[in-house]
Amino acid sequence: MQAIAIHGGAGTLSAADLTPESDRAYRAGLERALRAGYAILERGGSSLDAVVAAVQALEDDPLFNAGRGAVVAANGKHELDASIMDGRDLRAGAVTGVRHVRSPIELARLIMEHSPHVMLSGPGAEEFALEQGLAPVANSYFATERRRLELERMLHGEIEAGRESLMGTVGAVALDAQGNLAAATSTGGMTGKKWGRVGDSPIIGAGTYAANDCCAVSATGHGEYFIRAAVAHEIASLMRYRGMSVAAAANEVVMRQLVDLGGDGGVIAIGRDGSIAMPFNSEGMLRGSMDSSGRLTTGLLAD
Ligand code: ASP
Repeated sequence: MQAIAIHGGAGTLSAADLTPESDRAYRAGLERALRAGYAILERGGSSLDAVVAAVQALEDDPLFNAGRGAVVAANGKHELDASIMDGRDLRAGAVTGVRHVRSPIELARLIMEHSPHVMLSGPGAEEFALEQGLAPVANSYFATERRRLELERMLHGEIEAGRESLMGTVGAVALDAQGNLAAATSTGGMTGKKWGRVGDSPIIGAGTYAANDCCAVSATGHGEYFIRAAVAHEIASLMRYRGMSVAAAANEVVMRQLVDLGGDGGVIAIGRDGSIAMPFNSEGMLRGSMDSSGRLTTGLLAD
């Protein structure tokens, strides 16, 4: 049995600014990413390869806040974060604050597989990327007019830092035919972030977690809250120690714990039986899934 779920960020859009054209474009981007990941699972490939393929499709799509199309930090730069986890053995890789790595999820995987560390940051991470043979890109490779305008509006006080329209992230979780779970998350973080701010996306246990005994989780939302609630690991713990289903555990964390804290966003989560949960407490969360029968769904706002 195989299945995959992806997200393209919570809070990137509201009902008010969703047009028929943007609706189609978001769904097309999500579908491309789902199919890229599912094709790997279908031919017996690993969940790890599938989540990387799905996330890379979204990183390359300028509509989503990861890779090309990433938001702009207060210093005018794009500073990218990503993380990945292998549910088989709890190996993990993460990267934060890189400016010249085209696919941060690819670098996170290289860190997991070819370094003795879990997380690398900034210039050291870029150096490791070069050593691993990744061709650097100019920071302007990530730039889009839409994100530049968002930063400008934020700096002029037209939108509040941390508001939903300034967020977004991409992620994928998958179960492969061998019963292995994996999770991957990649983001530009939040518009106007300062001082080398690190969100939840590159933090194992907050934005990303996978363990074959329970679930794989990738989160999106206001990262500060997701770190404080240790969202992804908390969902795993509720399944392990309270025997909750993936849906009940994800719901408890997103709809109760995060709501109590005041944290907007959601998660995608998949259990070892292939069941998928995609709860969010924000107005929307770009999301999609393909289950073992190959049924594809996408969603943007609340149903
Ligand atoms: N969680 C990401 C961060 O805080 C942003 C998002 O998912 O919207 O960096």
